[in-house]
Amino acid sequence: MKSQGNVLKKTSTRLAAALLGALVSFIAGPHAALAASPQHHGQAPGFYRLKVGDLEVTALYDGTGVFDAHWLNGTKATMDGVVKGLHEDPHKLDVVDAGFLVNTGKQLILVDAGAGTWWGGGALGRLEGSLRSAGYTPEEVDIVLVTHLHSDHAGGLATQDGKRVFPNADVYVAKAESDFWLSPEIAAKAPKDAQPFFQSAQAIAAPYIKAGKWHTFTGSEPILDGMQLVPLPGHTPGHTGYEFSSKGQKILFWGDIVHAQRVQFQHPEVTAIFDIDQAAAAATRHQSLLKLTHEDVLIAMPHSSIFPNLGRLRKEGSGYSWVPVVFTDQWDGK
Ligand SMILES: [Zn+2]
Repeated sequence: MKSQGNVLKKTSTRLAAALLGALVSFIAGPHAALAASPQHHGQAPGFYRLKVGDLEVTALYDGTGVFDAHWLNGTKATMDGVVKGLHEDPHKLDVVDAGFLVNTGKQLILVDAGAGTWWGGGALGRLEGSLRSAGYTPEEVDIVLVTHLHSDHAGGLATQDGKRVFPNADVYVAKAESDFWLSPEIAAKAPKDAQPFFQSAQAIAAPYIKAGKWHTFTGSEPILDGMQLVPLPGHTPGHTGYEFSSKGQKILFWGDIVHAQRVQFQHPEVTAIFDIDQAAAAATRHQSLLKLTHEDVLIAMPHSSIFPNLGRLRKEGSGYSWVPVVFTDQWDGK
């Protein structure tokens, strides 16, 4: 009995110690007693899907770049405000680059292909990985619609050694766009700073042209059921939006109507130095923003500061505000 009593006493002492330990770790957190964990700097793979009618739309993250205030043209007062704003918030001009997949149930369509290895010194070019994370392969893509041939939208189409990343896809781009960037004569006359844009466009297009998979359109000829071409000239000569409709719902892939949303929604007159025709780019932006506030259209914008680069427009004061799609794990938003 005596020894049993000792065992009981010892057991209850151990039990009390264990309970106390559990209580301490409960208060301090479950890993308080472990060595410090290394910090992990990467994020989860970047895709986000939602439903537009019967369409499955997946935004594909390509990377984030920093837009330079000197790339914007506005009045002195506006630009002074932008520079001041950057002191308060250094990330004010950060820009996510994104492309978008549309699965119609019959075809897999990519709208803009990200930068691949052609832009941004490695900050961009993750679209192919995002597409794979979303459960697709490049071989499955049937069609690529390109809003324009700047390499942050078309670079993901081809590798530096001239291979097609989407070997089974037919690529569509406006004829005015293709003619401009692929013209050796126009390239020869272009300023030195603009030369890389021509060189990359030509190198990216070459393997698709060779394979007979580079197609151009001149107007509103039908390419796909349920998709309308929306000419949006100015940023580049053949800059084109693509508007998909399904069951009364619409989504517009509008290319580079906006580069710096936290400046240009309030100041649509501010242009980017990359706009080939500055006046036309500003006019197209004014018209598009005004029109879209009156329509029930979801907007997919390749350059937003808020991934998944999807949202709607509202009128706000003399400018506009962006109402972003918020994250939900319900893919149809319900
Ligand atoms: Zn762009």
